[in-house]
Amino acid sequence: MHKIDIDLVEMTLDVMKYAINRISAVEHPIGKPKKEEELKALVGETVTPEGVGGEYAFKLWRKYLSKANVPVDHPRNLAFVPASPTRAAVMFDLVTSVSSIHGAYWMEGAGGIFCENEAMRWMVSLTGLPDGAFGVFTSGGTAANLSAIVTAREFWRKDDTYKREKGLIITSIGAHSSIKAMAKVADVDILLVDTEEKLTGEDLRTTIDSLSFYQRKRLFAVVATGGTTNAGIIDDLDGIATVCEREKLWFHVDAAYGGGALVADSARHLFNGIERADSITIDPHKWMFSPYDCGAVIYKKPELAKEAHSQQGSYLDIFKDEGAHGFNPTDYQIQLTRRVRGLPLWFSLATHGTDSYKVAVERGLELAQIAGKMIEENPNVELVREPSLSCVLFRRIGWQPEDYKHWTYENHKSGFALVTPTKWKNGDTFETVSRFCFINPDTTEKDIQMILDSME
Ligand SMILES: *Cc1c(COP(=O)(O)O)cnc(C)c1O
Repeated sequence: MHKIDIDLVEMTLDVMKYAINRISAVEHPIGKPKKEEELKALVGETVTPEGVGGEYAFKLWRKYLSKANVPVDHPRNLAFVPASPTRAAVMFDLVTSVSSIHGAYWMEGAGGIFCENEAMRWMVSLTGLPDGAFGVFTSGGTAANLSAIVTAREFWRKDDTYKREKGLIITSIGAHSSIKAMAKVADVDILLVDTEEKLTGEDLRTTIDSLSFYQRKRLFAVVATGGTTNAGIIDDLDGIATVCEREKLWFHVDAAYGGGALVADSARHLFNGIERADSITIDPHKWMFSPYDCGAVIYKKPELAKEAHSQQGSYLDIFKDEGAHGFNPTDYQIQLTRRVRGLPLWFSLATHGTDSYKVAVERGLELAQIAGKMIEENPNVELVREPSLSCVLFRRIGWQPEDYKHWTYENHKSGFALVTPTKWKNGDTFETVSRFCFINPDTTEKDIQMILDSME
């Protein structure tokens, strides 16, 4: 199975050719999912005792299976949070795979972890956190949020008063679903402030004042959002930091999506106060142009994360080699064995320079402003709120939820675009509206115009 023969060499060339085509393509089909039964009928049995052979399996992939995906880097894929990994990053993702690096320990992954840490230092510098702050790359924002919540809870429980208490955290309904999901995993309760608009220090103050004595005792952390996934709204980080400091609460900022905008001079001030956070989540696979999957968690005091997460295997302290001792990423988040998933980001940063990241993120912000103007000038549509970061919420005047659904379906079916509706809280009801999220700097004004025209 592992031997090298002619077939393998040919297979390697075929796979490389596919990768080269995908990397060098200017535009590729937007793709569309199929039902599992349909796919099964197309490809038949593929996992068999003898195997169907690489050539055949690869043919099935190219002909049917690859087309049943919806690549998120298409310039007219503006749904959810799309992506746009740089070609340099994608290429180095291949290098990461073929290098077989176990990224848990410096002993095995020193070279790769060194590169990750160089990229991480740049990310930390964007946050303005004080000296000593540092982070690690995770599988995504969900794992980063969980790692941060567990670190905060363990720190809180070091005090005997709280040892047996179930913790409580406060966030707003604008927070990402992973906050609620990870609070469940960490077995902490969550209190949601009922606003999808900017959560302010005052809102937090009022919420804390309304807690019962016992709830206040259990409260240990606040999660603010640095760019809500739905609308790009950045909470009042400075105001929230002040309350957290006064109340001795852990201050986590979830900037999984918005964190990329820290690099943009035009948007940086919106994040003022982030430098006072105890922990921050940023997803390079969202707005730092890395391939999936790559998230990151950054701590003001990484040693607290180490106390919470270090697995301390007994087989680890046996290396005499000086070079084997260094930073162990496993100590700072929930995973042991891990891919050095920050490596593609490092190569892309080294290739293009950090100024290119500024330009590419500014373009996403600019596209949101441009789309906002086009919407204001178009009598069929209107803005639900001003564009925020790279998110634009707008309504097609007179449309019902089914109209949005149908429009999304038709545009996707024809391979033209993927733009999905979302819900926005309007008084006491939730209104179905349309939403753009710009990440890909290759999206053009013409793309936006065509999409708006398709609403007529
Ligand atoms: C996307 C997102 C997450 C989840 O990140 P994954 O990488 O998908 O796990 C968390 N928080 C926010 C604000 C997000 O936008």
